[in-house]
Amino acid sequence: MQDYIRICDVEKYYGNASNVTKAVDRVNFGVDRGEFVGVMGPSGSGKTTLLNMLATIDRVTSGHIYYEYTDITELSEDALSDFRKNNLGFVFQDYNLLDTLTIEENILLALTMQDDVKVLDPASASRIAADQTKTPQIETAWPAESRDASPGHSPAKRNRADSSLSKRNCPDQTSEGRRLGRKQKITHNCNEILRLLGIEDIREKFPYQVSGGQKQRCACARALVNQPKLLLADEPTGALDSKAAQTLLETFTDLNRAMNATILMVTHDAFSASYCGRILFLKDGRIFHELIRGSKSRKAFLQEILDVLSLTGGRQEVSDVK
Ligand code: ADP
Ligand code: MG
Repeated sequence: MQDYIRICDVEKYYGNASNVTKAVDRVNFGVDRGEFVGVMGPSGSGKTTLLNMLATIDRVTSGHIYYEYTDITELSEDALSDFRKNNLGFVFQDYNLLDTLTIEENILLALTMQDDVKVLDPASASRIAADQTKTPQIETAWPAESRDASPGHSPAKRNRADSSLSKRNCPDQTSEGRRLGRKQKITHNCNEILRLLGIEDIREKFPYQVSGGQKQRCACARALVNQPKLLLADEPTGALDSKAAQTLLETFTDLNRAMNATILMVTHDAFSASYCGRILFLKDGRIFHELIRGSKSRKAFLQEILDVLSLTGGRQEVSDVK
């Protein structure tokens, strides 16, 4: 089967001949559509550089990156900008929010840049359960039942089930979804994502007026609100407390399972990594190990990740929520 993404002999050097830093050193791997892949490694191992090249923010020094049949290292700036707009959601390590816009406006901006706004109704399973006592159950684009299935490492099988679920439940395909105009969809989606990530009460504030964790949630909201086909996230839980991290990771899992989005997430946190279906371990710019979750429980996978980290002297930051 053709990989969705294929990274072929990718290298990235910084500096000049007298002072070269090899940030990424002949990396090769493939990602199937619908996979949730984690990238772990010590600080300076090349994680951000790799993600930035995948996001087309940074250019490779040599090698090729294919998305399906397109070699993105060969695309023009215009084609790259279309590619980013139509496919990518990106969560930057340092958030990259616009300081002159409020939290809400940062998210609205991402929405208004989309040609075609899909209605978002990401009511997570836990929220629906909590709301059921107060409000009638609503149809959800990210169905609760999909989250409980094991992620496994067989996207083809999972994809079939999920695409039918998301089609059946996608509000865009309900008469209500079709009736909404573009402006209403934008307002609706913005409200939904603010609610989902628990940042409704700071919507009027500017980034410099909120905490690092709130900024991080806003950055994630901005990336998720357009339901990207591919989500690239650089340490998205780095500034979050364990409860907020768990909520965010469950949101990623929902996007992955119900919308069949492909996710690559850089993290140094074993708890966050345990949500992935596969982990690539990076050291000195090279992949030196891979773990596949398969049918293991998240807890068992977490232990496996911790074992690899302890064997390789990596940090073991665990913020598991009981
Ligand atoms: P990580 O995200 O794993 O901490 P990075 O990808 O940020 O690692 O960095 C990998 C290596 O590349 C480090 O040695 C870092 O100092 C170097 N590096 C990253 N960005 C630049 C840059 N813009 N200029 C020079 N060196 C860089
Ligand atoms: Mg980094």
